[in-house]
Amino acid sequence: MSSIADNIRRVQEQLPAGVTLMAVTKARTHDEIMEAYNAGLRIFGENRVQELTAKREQLPDDISWHLIGRLQSNKVKHAVTAATMIESVDSVRLLRLIDDAAEARDRMISCLLQVHIADEESKTGFTGDEILSTPWDVITASLKRVTIRGVMGMATFTDDQEKVRQEFRRLATIFRQLNERHFRLTEHFDTISMGMTSDFQLAVEEGSTLVRIGTLIFGERT
Ligand SMILES: *Cc1c(COP(=O)(O)O)cnc(C)c1O
Repeated sequence: MSSIADNIRRVQEQLPAGVTLMAVTKARTHDEIMEAYNAGLRIFGENRVQELTAKREQLPDDISWHLIGRLQSNKVKHAVTAATMIESVDSVRLLRLIDDAAEARDRMISCLLQVHIADEESKTGFTGDEILSTPWDVITASLKRVTIRGVMGMATFTDDQEKVRQEFRRLATIFRQLNERHFRLTEHFDTISMGMTSDFQLAVEEGSTLVRIGTLIFGERT
């Protein structure tokens, strides 16, 4: 069996410069995560606020924790306290709650807008139309503690590579359009978070800047 460090090296060899590797640590033990840390990774992703908070307390301080799962309003305060980035922002209302919570805690927080690119009901996010017709310039002008850094999306879970490629391409196009129309003046609007174990190569070919990998680093989740 290959070690976590070997797995990380093998993934990194496939990533061009400018693409960051995030280790998705849901359901992983402290020791497994420390192996990834010792192999040099510093960005870790969790689906649930509670797990993220618990792991953050037990692991080194220089880890940047990203929340990648759906955020309920009653968990916003905890999310803002523990995460450096919330990748799963799926409404303007949530963005405002995050901003208020960050202000109350005197913190800055980075966010990604999650876009629904898959044709599966279960995957959340803004639709392409919604996100492009939202007046982001007005909204961002009123946000005090949130920096919108880009977009996040998940492709349909399918063997149809061409379909997955088209979905990633669409997300990259939405990112570019948002950048041109609304975020030109936003420093650091630079992140397209797309690609997981099964599809990260396609995501990278279509312009991903951040891949979120669990299984390929740590093995199958039990
Ligand atoms: C679990 C998860 C991943 C990683 O999935 P793997 O297939 O294990 O690489 C990436 N993104 C999100 C949003 C996830 O929930």
